[in-house]
Formats: sequence, structure tokens, C-alpha cells
Amino acid sequence: MKESCGVFGVYYPGSKASFLTFDGLFTLQHRGQESAGMAVSDGQTITVFKEMGLVSNVFNETILTTLEGFLSIGHTRYSTTGSSTWANAQPAYRPMGHVGFALAHNGNLTNTDELAQKVGMMPGMVTSDSDVLAELISKSDKFSQKDQSRALESAVLEVIDAVKGAFSLVLMDAYRLIGIRDPNGLRPLCLGAFFNDESKVEQGWVISSESAALNVVGAKFIREISPGEVVVIDETGVKSYFPFTQKTKETLCIFEFVYFSRPDSILYDSEVHGCRRRMGELLAKEHPVQADMVMGVPDSGIPAAEGFAKYSGIAYGQGLVKNRYIGRTFIYPTQEQRAQNVRRKLSPLTENISGKRLVVVDDSFVRGTTSSALIKMLREAGAREVHMRFSSPPFKWPCYYGIDIPTKEELLAANVEIDEIASIIGADSVGFLSLESLILAIGAINKQYCSGCLTGVYPSKVPVKLDDSSSTNGINKKDAVIEAIPKQFEKI
Ligand code: AMP
Repeated sequence: MKESCGVFGVYYPGSKASFLTFDGLFTLQHRGQESAGMAVSDGQTITVFKEMGLVSNVFNETILTTLEGFLSIGHTRYSTTGSSTWANAQPAYRPMGHVGFALAHNGNLTNTDELAQKVGMMPGMVTSDSDVLAELISKSDKFSQKDQSRALESAVLEVIDAVKGAFSLVLMDAYRLIGIRDPNGLRPLCLGAFFNDESKVEQGWVISSESAALNVVGAKFIREISPGEVVVIDETGVKSYFPFTQKTKETLCIFEFVYFSRPDSILYDSEVHGCRRRMGELLAKEHPVQADMVMGVPDSGIPAAEGFAKYSGIAYGQGLVKNRYIGRTFIYPTQEQRAQNVRRKLSPLTENISGKRLVVVDDSFVRGTTSSALIKMLREAGAREVHMRFSSPPFKWPCYYGIDIPTKEELLAANVEIDEIASIIGADSVGFLSLESLILAIGAINKQYCSGCLTGVYPSKVPVKLDDSSSTNGINKKDAVIEAIPKQFEKI
């Protein structure tokens, strides 16, 4: 049940919220390609439409026109192979008489079993952590009280403190939009607003996983939603609550910067593309090599390759074309299928490559499938040398907060020595950006991050024992997070 998804919500009186949500989800497509869905309210009735597939396949103009209303939430889902079913597509919906609600979730809960037990769901009934969350909220007695006009808001504020793990959520009843970010702020979530030309007064509001989607719908970025914050939006404007007893400690997922977020999104006040270029510059500084051309693995390796070329002075060039119409290679169940899909996705530009010593920059190294397949392909196309460089440290630990990173057994770097990797994947040399440089590249002074997948140090209790050196019963290895406090942003 690991999933990292895209969530989007609109409260905009007078608008056709379904069309805005479509554009928002379309922009967040990279966060999940398994299913897409939205719930729309006209102030009285909530209609939910969800289906397996890409946003552009699930929705068309006729469907969007039918989904009438000024209030909407939407979801794009990314999951592991087994849990990719229609029933798990979101938004999740609970009828609750005339105060029904819909919920969309990005993240992964770490106490799903405990919550399921609490609401009386038998293990066999639990198909997703998001469904357990919807059930938990629906069980609140606020829905049976006389005045139900604020039932959802009150229910959320009552139960949310019991929820642990990663959750950036959007919820709605027929009248209001709610956004919630977990106390660690593990997944991003931001607030935007619509203004009309004449006035500076907000006409409507947007909540989105990433700021890139705000620009696309014509809204302006207002701010990131704070860790531990619940934002309620209705005709009175925006209200903000901090209902968690757990002290908030922002530890945004470092992988959002490395791979997951769009390059044009703003995280921790910086555009992600710039962070990736700086990663490449620092990578060149840490792992220099004599070569004729620097190339990136499309798409996420490109900005770091630009940075590598700039710092090293080696010419930047394109060595691969990417087939735009292909989905994810990453979650195919067998190694053979994954390798075949890399070949489907990427093809060499033979003339550009032939006879050259190449530096090939990719964003991350997980199982090693992409690099092994690529190196073979580049050598067949005539490359003289292939030096792999990665703009993050190698993955050694699973993620419990929503990124689909395989089990430790499948993580190559967790099972071999780093200096064995070059010969295993067939490279002339390999270099990984250090964690310190990665943090420096992100450049947010006095911020903290979750780098659990790289270090095995998680910002909260995780549900399984990590290894022999960790403490028992699911207590994390060290009850601390990596502190990212570069003294000052080093000039490179
Ligand atoms: P691997 O081929 O297993 O070493 O995985 C690394 C490659 O997959 C890189 O090219 C990344 O851009 C991409 N990647 C890394 N993590 C993920 C993920 N969670 N989902 C999809 N792609 C990923």
C-alpha cells in the first residue's frame, strides 16, 4: 500500500471547478499514473468520478461538463502493482446522509493497522490506508449531532491527531474544502488563490500538491501549507487550525527534490530545477572525470547534467531520446520487463555518442536496472567510455512515507559495496552525490529533511524493525532526523 500521489482542490464560486481540477490533475500527472478521479459539488450534491488510467483518458469534455459545481477535489494515484485497482482509486467517498464527504490522499500512513482496528475494519477489509482514513473520519460522532453543517470540519479536527505517517490531504463536503498536512510535512502541499484583474481580493482558492499546478489554472501561489496545519475554506474565507498534539517538525521528503516533484514547482522557497542544477554542479566537484560529453538521462537527469557540464567545463550534449508516450518502467514486476521497458523508453542518438567518452547523469540509483540497460545501449551505439554519475546518494532503505522504493533486498547499493557497483552495471566509473552536497544544493538554511531512504534514519516511528543495529519493536534507529544546516550557501 505504498503510494505517492497528486492531490488538488478548488473552491471558486461561479467557476466550473471540474475543468480547473482537470488542469490541476493534468499538471500533477507525474505524481501518479495508475488512476485519476475527482469529486465535485454544486453546493448540494457531491458527484464522484474516478477511473483507472491517465487523467486525459479518464476525463473528457462531456464528463467534465456533467460534473457541475464550484467546489472540487481530485487525485492522481501512484501505487505498487498489486494495489492498483479501481476500488483503491480516489477520491474515497462516504455518503453520511446529506453531509457526505470525499477525501484524496498523498502519502502513506504508518499506523494503518492500528487505525483499522480502532474503526472495526478486519484486516481482510483493508484495501488502502486512505480508505481507513475515510472510515476513521466517518465514524466520528460529529456526524450524528444535531447541527451537522460543520460536521466534516469538526470530525477532522477531532480524529486527525490519531493519524501517523505521511499525509497531505484534500477533503470536501458539499460546501467547503479542507487541506491537511501531517506534522512532519513529509509530502508537499500548498495554497493558492484566484484574483480578478481589478481587485486584490481573493475570488477563490486552490490547494495543490505542487505549486506548478497553480500557474496552470491561473491561480497565484500564496504559501506552503504548514506541517501540522488544517486549512478550512468556505464562503467566510480561509481558517487555519493546528490540531496535532505532536510537535511539528518539518521534514519534507528529500526525494521530492531529487526526482518526484516537477522542476517548475517551488519547494522550501526554491524552484526545483535550480536545486537539481546545483546538485549537478556539486556532483562534478565531488566526482570529476575526463570526458568528451556530459549527457543527462531524460527527463529527471537533465538539469543535473547541465550543472555537471557547467562546473566541469565538459561540453553538454544529448545522447538519448525519450519516447514521450510511455509510462513508468519502475514498477514492472520482473527485472526482465523493467529492462525491456528502459529500452522502450530511451533510445541512443548514435552520431552524438559514437567514439566519445561520456559522463551520463541520472537522478537516482535504486535497483540499477536503468543504468545497466543504458550502459549496454550506449556502448552498442559506439560510446568509448561510460562514466555514471548520480545526483543523489544510493538508496539503501525502504520508504515508509509514500515513495515506491522496493524492499531492502532489491536495493542494489544496500547489498554490495559501492566500489563494486561500476563493474556490476558495466560502467567505467560511478559517482554518487554525497548527502551533505545534496542538502547544500537544496539550499534551505535551517531546514530539516526526511532522508530515510538514503540513511535509514526516519523522522518518526516506522512500522518494521530496520536492522540489528536498530532498536526493537519498530522504534526508529535514532529518534532524530538528519539536520540540514549548511553554514552558508557555499559558492561553487
Ligand atoms: P533503477 O533503475 O532501479 O536504478 O531506478 C532508478 C531510475 O528510476 C532513475 O532513472 C530514476 O529516475 C527512476 N526512479 C527512481 N525512483 C523512482 C520511483 N519511486 N518511481 C519511478 N521511477 C523512479
